[in-house]
Amino acid sequence: MNVLLADTILTMNPAREVVRGGAIVFDENVIEVTDDLEAIEKRKKTARVIDCGRGSIAMPGLINAHTHLEFSGVSTELNYGSFIAWLSSVIEKRETLVKGLSKELIDGVLDEMLRGGTTTIGAVSSYGFDLESLADAKQKTICFNELIGSNPAASEQIFSAFLNRVAKSDEYRSDRFVSAIAIHSPYSVSPALVKKAIALSQSRKTPLSVHFLESKSERKWLESSSGEFKPFFEKVFKLDSSFCNAQEFLSFFGGDGKILFTHCVAANDEELDMIGKIGGAIVHCPVSNRLLGCGLLSLEKLKNREISYLVATDGLSSNYSLDLFGELRSALFMHEGLDLPLLARDLLRSVTDSAAKAMGLNTGRLASGYAADIICFRLSGEVSDDSLLPLQAILRAPSAMDYIFINGESAL
Ligand SMILES: [Zn+2]
Repeated sequence: MNVLLADTILTMNPAREVVRGGAIVFDENVIEVTDDLEAIEKRKKTARVIDCGRGSIAMPGLINAHTHLEFSGVSTELNYGSFIAWLSSVIEKRETLVKGLSKELIDGVLDEMLRGGTTTIGAVSSYGFDLESLADAKQKTICFNELIGSNPAASEQIFSAFLNRVAKSDEYRSDRFVSAIAIHSPYSVSPALVKKAIALSQSRKTPLSVHFLESKSERKWLESSSGEFKPFFEKVFKLDSSFCNAQEFLSFFGGDGKILFTHCVAANDEELDMIGKIGGAIVHCPVSNRLLGCGLLSLEKLKNREISYLVATDGLSSNYSLDLFGELRSALFMHEGLDLPLLARDLLRSVTDSAAKAMGLNTGRLASGYAADIICFRLSGEVSDDSLLPLQAILRAPSAMDYIFINGESAL
């Protein structure tokens, strides 16, 4: 048994969000979070005691629900500012980018994410090049094996190659590695394959990840097979019309939840209503959306519909860092119309409790029975007002945590 003493514990548990001068008692799971000093003294006699010191904040480990580790080698090679310019540069340079990839490189990226406080990672895997790294990672990982392929004549080959990748990923399954499924997008996978992938994901009861309405160009292509996507699709994929429109695509999904729709920046009110009915969550990658010229997701519209959102970094192909606290800082400044302390609280929830709930994971909050995934860092000054704690934590969290526990084990 362990007793972790911290000045402030941000539990992310709605029943009691902040505990001052208390302790987290845990083994593999959290046993209790308490400020009962007598009880703490009693526990200390038979437990390993970790005293995080003055100014310490302990909270649940962060969950980055959407990244692409196979693009870990990308730095300055790609075009930014417009989605199509970016996509064209990815396709043009794909070979070179993937060639520079190695297990050591991905391991290094995962280590850096860990030091920054990310204890659970949802990684979209397009080729399977990241499998070993994900399986070896100290973090908990959800490997979203991605289905992509827009040539209807090659449907069968595309699906059987995808199933092979899923089978390979299944071999790594463990209590820290979830083998799951992703559908690339409504414009790159035919409806027949989308339906097959959804059925497969439902039978496996794992979370399902899908890119959806990232840009206005995507919306235009889905609605009228026109716009910026048209010359691109004609040239690269020999396609002259879209597979389906956005609402048809959403109608393929059942209402059993655990579906992560990534981006949704160009989704309209009806589509957001449909996502709400499906019980889906929206993955919000503000830096990626900014760099690809896609605009900013309306968090107010999600709040009105009680759709939860999860902030994530996306991959290094559309970001300069996979530091999740850094992404939260960007979100804080980009959503400038929203109340600052409340936004900060929502953002922190989006990478802990909301993310865990959306993916059906027993983590994301410090409460009895939840996995002991704990991070701890120190602030140089005091924050006496509870309502300002999330804001100060986001603004001032260091790039390296002082303590990290995953399932109760030290991960540093
Ligand atoms: Zn993505």
